Amino acid sequence: MTLTVDRLLIWDFDGTLAHRRGETGWSILLAEALDAEEPGHAHSGDTFRPHLRDGFPWHQPEVAHPELCEPEAWWASVRPVLSRAYEAAGYAPARALELADAARRLYVDPQVGWALFDDTLPALARLTEAGWTHAILSNHVPELRQIVAGLGLDEVVAFISCSAETGYEKPHAQAYASVLDALRPAEAWMVGDNVVADVLGAEELGIPAVLVRRPDPRAARYADTLAGVERLLGDAVVA
Ligand SMILES: [Mg+2]
Repeated sequence: MTLTVDRLLIWDFDGTLAHRRGETGWSILLAEALDAEEPGHAHSGDTFRPHLRDGFPWHQPEVAHPELCEPEAWWASVRPVLSRAYEAAGYAPARALELADAARRLYVDPQVGWALFDDTLPALARLTEAGWTHAILSNHVPELRQIVAGLGLDEVVAFISCSAETGYEKPHAQAYASVLDALRPAEAWMVGDNVVADVLGAEELGIPAVLVRRPDPRAARYADTLAGVERLLGDAVVA
């Protein structure tokens, strides 16, 4: 497929275009997986949060991980992280591994828990109308494409680059190159909710970026909503 791209918007996925039940985060997921597996459990995301601050591929974005570019290899690296968090909550090791697998099944099911933000489809449609092509660049799980398709986003997004397929996590320069080298746009902007991975990482490479939904003083451009992104892009084009 040859795609001629003039103006490209590179979108982060999680926390920018979509979210899981209003909360982005694996700690919430681990508590949710218990709802079916251990009815009556007393845990919340707070139980697991301290145990999930390390061990995922995106916690070391400076390290490439080509050895994890196959779904089972990727999950084999993350499974012990999830199971240790369950062990820390008091579950026996064998049960903790079962719960880790339940959390995986829950996370990759686009029908359960995932939702687009209300402004996502309208903003992307208007931006398409205005001549922008959309790509997703995400630090995510190997099943990102099925989640994106399940949310109906695959019809408006021309290209997806997922770190679990490329082996590079944002803000690694090669993560950005995975999109730019494939599409060779005349102009590109990055939009995302993570100031380090999405905004500072892109700008380091000369890609202008907009922080969305989670303000941070380190970002030069910020918008609460994707309509705000449209305004910033409009201004930039006029300028
Ligand atoms: Mg995000």
